[in-house]
Amino acid sequence: ASLFAAVEMAPRDPILGLNEQFNADTNPAKVNLGVGVYYDDDGKLPLLKCVQAAEKQMVEAPKARGYLPIDGIAAYDKAVQGLVYGADSAILKAGRVATVQAVGGTGGLKVGADFLKRVNPAAKVLISDPSWENHRALFESAGFPVENYPYYDAAKRGVNFDGMLTALNGAAQGTIVVLHACCHNPTGYDITPAQWKQVVDVVKARGLVPFLDMAYQGFGEGIAEDGAVIQQFVDAGLDFFVSTSFSKSFSLYGERVGALSVACASKEEADRVLSQLKRVIRTNYSNPPTHGAQVVATVLTTPALRQMWEDELAGMRVRIKEMRVALQAKLQAAGVKQDMSFITQQKGMFSYSGLNKDQMQRLRDEFGIYGVDSGRICVAALNSKNIDAVVSAIAKVS
Ligand code: PLP
Repeated sequence: ASLFAAVEMAPRDPILGLNEQFNADTNPAKVNLGVGVYYDDDGKLPLLKCVQAAEKQMVEAPKARGYLPIDGIAAYDKAVQGLVYGADSAILKAGRVATVQAVGGTGGLKVGADFLKRVNPAAKVLISDPSWENHRALFESAGFPVENYPYYDAAKRGVNFDGMLTALNGAAQGTIVVLHACCHNPTGYDITPAQWKQVVDVVKARGLVPFLDMAYQGFGEGIAEDGAVIQQFVDAGLDFFVSTSFSKSFSLYGERVGALSVACASKEEADRVLSQLKRVIRTNYSNPPTHGAQVVATVLTTPALRQMWEDELAGMRVRIKEMRVALQAKLQAAGVKQDMSFITQQKGMFSYSGLNKDQMQRLRDEFGIYGVDSGRICVAALNSKNIDAVVSAIAKVS
């Protein structure tokens, strides 16, 4: 028999399946709210001006493509650290953070997970219920058992914070806790700074290992505002992990630009950790690709381009917020009786709309409006042209 005779078909990715269904739909008014990307008001994936300017510079002074160091472009890693911890932060001055360039935010998570399996092999991983659909599979593939901590409270339309805290309080020492630094995917509900403080206290008291996934820095309230939570972990004197993704904030999805940073107790410890992160990378894909990280490093370290990026990112953030305000107001105007204020309380690209599976199915079948069965819709895919059709469809199924 063939070596592969017993290989089973892996389950289809539910969101990619939704995209295929959307592409096959002949309804001219169809709208895809199932995606996890930011579209502009014309429904297009943006190519940022700061990215184009950096690429122009790179084309005008072309460089040969040698191998990068295993941990990536040094200027890139440094710029990432500045964004995550604040450029003037004491922990960076002390050299206590080990940062490596990674293949997207996913790569940052996987390098961190593989490293953790070496230093903390018997640990369990806790992820939020619900979470980004890849968290569970990614940590399981690194060899960890993965369980949930309560997060979304459907009845309250918010976070079940007491449930979350109770679960963290009951976790064994060394448990790895994956936390969304901002703009929780898929619900859109973040915890408050005061609640973060409580999380930090429990993490510290119980000896848990925090792993912050920061895929949307700048999409919530601002770059520094969204990154502020990091300082709480630093102030508590914790060792912790941060994965960074520039997929959304630079609209560079396909370039796979991300990073992993590990905050350590001393520079000497950070040096040892870095050497082990490099070993994980070396045995997986040897070293990272050049282009995307060079673009991001150029933008972040060139003041004029950096300003351009901050403005463009603010533009994306503000447009999403405008769509939230419009969605809430238009739903209410269309006669939807229930309180829709949760839409403007949520942050980032996603909204748990509160619609159930049947309603999501009706939106697809009757109106060509595609969202995830969980009720998740991508607010960043709404625009001034499609919002009225979306509102009238939601009003009809509500
Ligand atoms: N983490 C979260 C919470 C995400 O939503 C995403 C992307 O959707 C990622 C990580 C992965 O980012 P990347 O595409 O850079 O690998």
